[in-house]
Amino acid sequence: MDSKIKVRFAPSPTGVPHVGNIRTALFDYFFSKANNGIFMLRLEDTDQARKIEGAEESIKESLTWLGAKWDEFFIQSDRLEEYTNYAKQLVKKGLAKEEEGAVRFIVPKDKLSKISWTDAVGNKEVSYNLENVEDFIILKADGYPTYHLANVVDDHLMNITHVIRGEDWIPSTPKHLLLYRAFEWEIPVFAHVPNVLGTDGKKLSKRKGAKSVLNFRDEGFLPEALLNYLMLLGWSPKNDREILSREEIVNEFSLEKINSAPAIFDERKLLWMNGEYIRQLSVEKLAAILGEYDNTLTVGVSPEDFLKYVASAQTRMKKLSEFKNYIFPFINPESSGSLLLQNLNLMLEKLSDWNKGSITTALVGFMQTQNIRYPEIYFDLIGQKQGLPLGDVFEILGKEKTLQMLK
Ligand code: GLU
Repeated sequence: MDSKIKVRFAPSPTGVPHVGNIRTALFDYFFSKANNGIFMLRLEDTDQARKIEGAEESIKESLTWLGAKWDEFFIQSDRLEEYTNYAKQLVKKGLAKEEEGAVRFIVPKDKLSKISWTDAVGNKEVSYNLENVEDFIILKADGYPTYHLANVVDDHLMNITHVIRGEDWIPSTPKHLLLYRAFEWEIPVFAHVPNVLGTDGKKLSKRKGAKSVLNFRDEGFLPEALLNYLMLLGWSPKNDREILSREEIVNEFSLEKINSAPAIFDERKLLWMNGEYIRQLSVEKLAAILGEYDNTLTVGVSPEDFLKYVASAQTRMKKLSEFKNYIFPFINPESSGSLLLQNLNLMLEKLSDWNKGSITTALVGFMQTQNIRYPEIYFDLIGQKQGLPLGDVFEILGKEKTLQMLK
């Protein structure tokens, strides 16, 4: 027997997975890494009607981008013969019956009254009264198995030791236990992890527009930050730390520390965390990441200037897509003009010390004498409401370019 710990993420290819689905995959991944085990990706595509083209690719792309690579990969529709054989075995043993080409499992209510297991999440016993479990189809007339049969057969044949999945699968578990018992197979550990809810308190769902990992990638989130944030949805490391590297997660992850309460996905918190990760990078590294994220950003900019823009934007940027707003004044120095700006020009022209401190002091004085507020002057100059402080912008542009812009 293979005693190595082995887990699987078993999505059905019904669309682009949202962040809640991928959080569960990450729990699988880190559990396998923490235990020197194996992480399998298994595509459960036995419901052919719900299959969506491209879903397999987006699942793989999401995991790959986050650096959660699987060690083995299977697709259930390649294994139909296996499921048929096992369904037939149960019919032969009298534990299931054939019904117009389909096979239905007979729940043995006469022998057992309840079925239970100890869930690894919360270490609690969950038990189901068999009176409430109806006989269920395991093989459909189209020759495809149902989720229950395929899932159990594969988990057994593939030596899965721990079934880590969302808590909405709890009602299926009694059926799975009955199948394990019927086949006389060893039962894996079940860990039903809490759902991920939106800030509205409702479960994240594709239908309600829950975002995917790839949406966040395209908006300019860093994979390390998203991974870190997702891992905190339902799991708490020692001392409730928040920023954890991949290595720290591997060292600390365990099923005992998964909470049973639902987790809330708060995009603002993620945004904050992404900003923290951006600030941890060296300027050179961030510049390289930005260049890769959007290769138009560096067009017509010298590498030295680009590094200056990056260094300045890094102090306040929360996601890569914001960078464009921050460099707007450097790329469009001829923005707009007005009398106010002419006056500002005259004032700045006299400024001999050109650094953000002296510029800011001068600006404050100017706004007081002109009786205007910062947002107004900011918009006039930059053409948008938010961005880097004017002191930073002017210092980086240099005196000559600043005055030119003000003309
Ligand atoms: N195919 C199921 C899903 O789509 C798998 C549930 C499980 O992990 O057993 O989530």
